[in-house]
Amino acid sequence: MKFGGALMEDAEQIANSADLVAERAKKGDEVVITVSAMSGVTDELIEMGEHARLGDMEKARELLSKLERRHQDSAKKLCSEEILDATSKKIGALIETLNQCLTGVFLLRELTPRSRDLLLSFGERLSAPLMRSALLSRGVKAIDLTGGEAGIITDSNYGNAKPLLNITEVMVKDRIMPVLKAGVVPVVTGFIGQDQNGVITTLGRGGSDYTATILAASLEVDEVWIWKDVDGIMTADPKLVEGAKTIPVLSYLEVMEMAYFGAKVLHPLTVTPVQERLIPIRIRSAYNPSNPGTLIRERSVPKPTVKAITAIKGMSIITTGGAGMIGVPSVVARVFSTLAANGINVAMISQSSSQANISMIVRTEDLEKALKALKIEFRNGDLVRDIHAVPNVAIVAIVGEGMRGAKGVAARLFSAVAEAGVNILMISQGSSELNISFAVQDEDMKKAVVAIHSAFQLDKFDEVAQEQKSM
Ligand code: ASP
Ligand code: MG
Repeated sequence: MKFGGALMEDAEQIANSADLVAERAKKGDEVVITVSAMSGVTDELIEMGEHARLGDMEKARELLSKLERRHQDSAKKLCSEEILDATSKKIGALIETLNQCLTGVFLLRELTPRSRDLLLSFGERLSAPLMRSALLSRGVKAIDLTGGEAGIITDSNYGNAKPLLNITEVMVKDRIMPVLKAGVVPVVTGFIGQDQNGVITTLGRGGSDYTATILAASLEVDEVWIWKDVDGIMTADPKLVEGAKTIPVLSYLEVMEMAYFGAKVLHPLTVTPVQERLIPIRIRSAYNPSNPGTLIRERSVPKPTVKAITAIKGMSIITTGGAGMIGVPSVVARVFSTLAANGINVAMISQSSSQANISMIVRTEDLEKALKALKIEFRNGDLVRDIHAVPNVAIVAIVGEGMRGAKGVAARLFSAVAEAGVNILMISQGSSELNISFAVQDEDMKKAVVAIHSAFQLDKFDEVAQEQKSM
């Protein structure tokens, strides 16, 4: 079971989450827990680090004492009398270590990716003991462990570390199995691991989902339950589309497509550890646990053809053009290796068959860096003559395995967009046919999503779901 930041937000939320765990544990199920930091804490830690690096220790300490108060207050509310003292001491000790880290950053005026990972680890290291205490107070035996202590060993790519799955599998079994056998619930910090030298690493923002499935695969569990504050994965962002519905079944591939396109659904690598072992993931509401939520599994459901629409803002298009590019294959390679060398992720690509230009989409915060790097790389102008950008762009994508081989999907999609009066800036469809993506101006995003949602009748998803159940 994984609980995200919203479900760890304060004593009340943690109590609700702990109830869900206790219920299963008391039935005799072996449960492993992964928790995120309390909501907003990871961002606050980043902020503290920045204040310290820039020499403003006062601001850093202000945030630090707010953080301490938040955790100590929750401890008081969650802990039964016998364990309050130990829990408070543990929180106090972590806060003191965090204070020392910040002082180090302040003195050096330097925050390396490695020290930043250490800093960020405190969010989950502070929340896990609270979950443990809440469980103990409910009569459930529990311990808390960091990702590294639980056996998650990663490479040393700080900020975005990847688990070394072979070692991890052995280590996790070794560490967690005896705990489970003893009837104790392990509460593992999400998001963090440790490299082979024992240095703390993080798995990328939103990484607690990934922690859950890494543990799940290593332990060969029956199911992964990701508890949320919503009923499941939705056909579209309910903030954009009023009639958005919960999707009952999605395949691993469909979820991956959605996650990559930024639909704050799950960490993009979440399904990868469990995919081969065919371990299902359930996304369920912590406020409405009887709702079946979304089941993610190997096999897709063919209908409906399009299952979800994702949309992200804050992107920019870069187009590189010039007659010199035609028929010179190395140019494409140089464009992308230049961006890669500068750590810039490309979200979408399109090249006309004339080969006279390539368009790609990057996050707007990377735009300036990307343009500069490309201009330097192609400075003599014989191959790429023209490099320009369109800022304030959004990527909209439709996802569904049923699109494979189905005719008329693109026609329906683009007529809906046209009828909504929205201009399309760029289009891309992978040959897997799982996803069609296109770019529009930021301000047109909502209009486009609403139009597509109704064109594909996603607001009628319930009826379709009924049919699926009978299949
Ligand atoms: N606390 C981390 C974050 O905010 C990891 C997570 O919540 O999954 O990114
Ligand atoms: Mg998350």
